Amino acid sequence: MEAVATDFGIQKALEQLGVNEINEGTSTGSNNFSNGDIIESFSPVDGKLIAKVKSTTKEDYEKAMQAATSAFKTWRLMPAPQRGEIIRQFGDKLREKKEALGKLVSYEMGKSYQEGLGEVQEMIDICDFAVGLSRQLHGLTMHSERPGHRMYEQYHPLGVVGIISAFNFPVAVWSWNTALAWICGDVCIWKPSEKAPLCGVACQNIAAEVFKNNNLPEGISCLINGDYRVGELMTKDTRVPLVSATGSTRMGKIVAQEVAGRLGKSLLELGGNNAIIVTPDADIKMTVIGAVFGAVGTCGQRCTSTRRLIIHDSIYDKVKDAIVDAYGQLRIGNPLDESNHVGPLIDTDAVGMYQNALTQVVEEGGNIVVEGGVLSGEGYESGCYVKPAIAEAEPHFNIVQHETFAPVLYLLKYSGDVENAIDIQNNVAQGLSSAIMTNNLREAERFLSHAGSDCGIANVNIGTSGAEIGGAFGGEKETGGGRESGSDAWKIYMRRQTNTINYTTELPLAQGIKFDL
Ligand code: NAD
Repeated sequence: MEAVATDFGIQKALEQLGVNEINEGTSTGSNNFSNGDIIESFSPVDGKLIAKVKSTTKEDYEKAMQAATSAFKTWRLMPAPQRGEIIRQFGDKLREKKEALGKLVSYEMGKSYQEGLGEVQEMIDICDFAVGLSRQLHGLTMHSERPGHRMYEQYHPLGVVGIISAFNFPVAVWSWNTALAWICGDVCIWKPSEKAPLCGVACQNIAAEVFKNNNLPEGISCLINGDYRVGELMTKDTRVPLVSATGSTRMGKIVAQEVAGRLGKSLLELGGNNAIIVTPDADIKMTVIGAVFGAVGTCGQRCTSTRRLIIHDSIYDKVKDAIVDAYGQLRIGNPLDESNHVGPLIDTDAVGMYQNALTQVVEEGGNIVVEGGVLSGEGYESGCYVKPAIAEAEPHFNIVQHETFAPVLYLLKYSGDVENAIDIQNNVAQGLSSAIMTNNLREAERFLSHAGSDCGIANVNIGTSGAEIGGAFGGEKETGGGRESGSDAWKIYMRRQTNTINYTTELPLAQGIKFDL
C-alpha cells in the first residue's frame, strides 16, 4: 500500500474504519463483490494515493443481487420496530466512528473536517429519525361505500433499492436513503461515486459489523464499486424496483429514461442553481455570512451552494463591497487544518470547469470583481486548490444559467419590486434551493407564496445551503423532483396496497352493479 499522510490523524482514522489495509482491491469490506479493474483513490488534499479499490464486474453484480434478494426474505419479515432497533445500533456505531469517518470524508473528498463531521452527524440524525419512523409506517383507513365492509391502505417493502451517489456527499446521501429503506423493510445495493470509493467501503464495514452482531445477513447492505457502467447494471435491472440517484442533471436524465423504460421508479436528486435574493430590507451582516458560506463552503461543491446573488440596486454596492471584503479574509488550504475556510476541488477536471466558467463569464460580458485562479506551491501540490471568485453578470448569460460545481458566485442586480427578483430567481432550469434575505414580512410571504420561489427549498433569512433531515429534501424542474430524508419521504421506498374486507354473508359489488346468478 502506498504511504498515506500521517498528519492530522488520517492513518489512525483509516485503521479505525478497517480500511487501512485496502490495496489492490484485496478487500472491499466483508461484503466483497468486487473483482474487476482497480480504482485508485487520490486525495485532493495532498494528491497522494489513499487506496486502490476493485470495481464490480457483471458476475460480481449477480452475486451482490443474490445476497440482497436472499437477505430481503429475512429482513422484510422482521417487525418494523425491530428493524428500528438495528438502525438504532447502526446510529450508535456511527457515533463511535464519527471522528474517523469525518476525517476520511475530509481527506478523500476535500471538504473541511468540520463539514466531514457534519456529514456524519447527518447520518446519525437520519438514524434517529428512522428509529422513530419504524413505529409510524402508517396508512389511511377510509369508509367503504358497501355495508359491512372495511377499507384501508397499507405499505409494504419494495425489495432491492439501488442507490447511486455523488462524490460531494460521499456518506450522508447513502444513509439518507438506506436508513429509511431499511426501516421500510427493503435491502440496498449501493454504488458510491468512483471519486470517493473508500468512503463507501468504510460505511459498508460499519453496517456489516452491526448486522453481524445481530446474526443478520450482510446482504441487507451491498456495496458495488465502479463508474457509470456499474450504475447501469442497476438502472437496467428489473429486479431493482427503485433506483435512487444523486448527481448531475446529465446523469439523472439518462437514469430516469433507463428506469422508466422498464417502468421502474426513480428518485432523482440532481443539480441546483441556487440563488439568494437580497432586498432593501435585508440585514447586511446576516446576508454576508449566509452568502459567503453558501458560495465557498465545500469549495462550492454542494448541490445547495449559492451560485447567484440577486441584489436590489439600492443596496447593490453596499452588499458587493461587504462580500468582496469577506472574500479577502478567506483562508484556503488543507481542509483538515481547522483554521482554513476553503479546501480543494475534487480533482483537476473540476479545476478545468472552474477556469472555463471564469473565462466564459468574461466572454459573455461579465465583470470579475474577485479574481480567481489556481493555487500552486507548498500545500497546494494536488493542483486542486482554487481561489473563490465573484463576477458581476446578467441573469440570461449562458454560464449563469448552468451549474458550475465550483466556488464562482454571480452578482445580479434587480430593480423595483421583489417580484422582479423572484422572476430572475425562477428563470433557470434547476429548482433546488432558494433564499430571501429581508425583514419585510410582505416580501418574505410573497417569496413563499404560490407565485413565489419554484424551488423544493425556500428559506427566509437563511442561506441556500445546509438542510435539516426532518424536512423532505429535494428540488423541482431539472433537479429531478425527488424527495429524500424527513417528512413523508419514506413512502417512495414502499409499495402501497388498498385492502377491502367484507365481513357480511352478502357480496355487494361496488358502484351498485348487480350481478345476479
Ligand atoms: P455525476 O452525475 O457525475 O455522478 C453521480 C453518480 O452517478 C456517480 O456515482 C456516477 O458513477 C453515476 N453515474 C453517472 N452516469 C451514470 C449512468 N449513466 N448510469 C448510472 N450511474 C451513473 O455527479 P458528481 O460529479 O458525482 O456530483 C455532482 C453533481 O451532483 C452536481 O450536479 C450536484 O448538484 C449533484 N448533487 C445533487 C444533490 C441533490 O440532493 N440534489 C446532492 C449531491 C450532489
